[in-house]
Amino acid sequence: MIFTWPIGLRLKKQKNLLELPIEVMPPVSFVFIHFQQHRGKPAIPLVKKGDAVKIGSKIGETGGEISSPVHSSVSGRVIDIKPHPHPFLREGLCCVIESDYSDTWEQRFIDSDYHSLSKEELLERIEKAGVVGLGGGGYPTAKKLLAGMKDRVNLLIINGCESEPNLAADYRVMIEYTASVVEGARILQKILNVPKMIFVLTRNYKMAEALLKKEGADVKILPDSYPVGSERVLIRKITKITLPADKLPIDVGIIVQNVSTCYAVFQAVKYNKPLIERVITISGDGINKPKNILVKIGTPLSAIIQYCEGLKDDLKKIIFGGLMTGIAQFSLDTPVIKTTSGIVFQSAVCEDEINDCVYCGKCIDVCPMGILPQMIYTFIKNNEFKNAIDYGLDDCIECGCCSYVCPSSIPLVHYFKYARLRNMHG
Ligand code: SF4
Ligand code: SF4
Repeated sequence: MIFTWPIGLRLKKQKNLLELPIEVMPPVSFVFIHFQQHRGKPAIPLVKKGDAVKIGSKIGETGGEISSPVHSSVSGRVIDIKPHPHPFLREGLCCVIESDYSDTWEQRFIDSDYHSLSKEELLERIEKAGVVGLGGGGYPTAKKLLAGMKDRVNLLIINGCESEPNLAADYRVMIEYTASVVEGARILQKILNVPKMIFVLTRNYKMAEALLKKEGADVKILPDSYPVGSERVLIRKITKITLPADKLPIDVGIIVQNVSTCYAVFQAVKYNKPLIERVITISGDGINKPKNILVKIGTPLSAIIQYCEGLKDDLKKIIFGGLMTGIAQFSLDTPVIKTTSGIVFQSAVCEDEINDCVYCGKCIDVCPMGILPQMIYTFIKNNEFKNAIDYGLDDCIECGCCSYVCPSSIPLVHYFKYARLRNMHG
């Protein structure tokens, strides 16, 4: 494989997003809670039509190795279990619950003495609460920790780099729930018995840096570039270790956890609170009031639009996730799932004609993984998939930097996604 000097992109945050305090979105009449809340296996339904549920009732059981339980985010009655629009599948099996608007919880306790719990007991609380990585893929947190308990971990990186231009949720979580985030990270450190833990932030997150340091956290600052928050890029920036595509961070003694995951871990351990809500960023020029909101899992897009004072007339596209890596949606019924970090409402989309490659090399200059996008693209176009792999296709993190800068508007990252799917399925 040929490596070049990787730089990524400078993408400015959408104006004012960082300044918008977290608003708690009021409860909605119906929630649509998918059994598939992240990649991996969906949860197995534990409820049926007509069942009464409370906030925090377990409605789905872990369905396999990479899976986690699912809980109700409202109190009310199950009115259906049926296929429903899903943020990254076209449809998924979903539990529809009508809220009774009461604040009735499944039995909970506050454990101020959780410090005396063993590593195994802490892990069990995180597993039972259905905590998954909130920074992207949603890998079940307890599974990741279990792997870390078996292997030696030398470094725990707490990722506060939110390099997508439309996201500010992690930033708000860090500055509004600082003590809980740091305590959640310390719980992870205890479980992993890891000697070193650092928070990593980008340069523009100055207030978060100051507040975390005040809580005694060790903070490292990276340049404000995209996609520095991507796990493999982050590890290389911090440790100078380049992880090959077939290796995981744990293979080099590192575990990365997101700051919002730390907050969820703290809630699970201290308050016995399942993951039933999260902070997300509503952004873009196609919505009237961009916001950072604490929203219940299962809240449909239509309710969020209403809460944010409606759509602009020229709306063209709605994306779940980051502007660069998110997924376009086709239905206003699609609900928030655990891995939804934000929703972008776009009024302008690129409609440029796709032209031939002009061999400018810009895609190579920006690729953060140091591979050769233009060459891999040419191989894929010629159906030379083995060559594409030999030249680093599997190292591509699908950040979209190459497509973003291409003057010929070639959707390079789409070719890479297609080639990977093709390789996976033959
Ligand atoms: S999408 Fe892949 S090839 Fe393109 S810049 Fe990102 S890592 Fe490099
Ligand atoms: S940026 Fe586009 S035009 Fe330039 S070398 Fe890469 S693929 Fe070709």
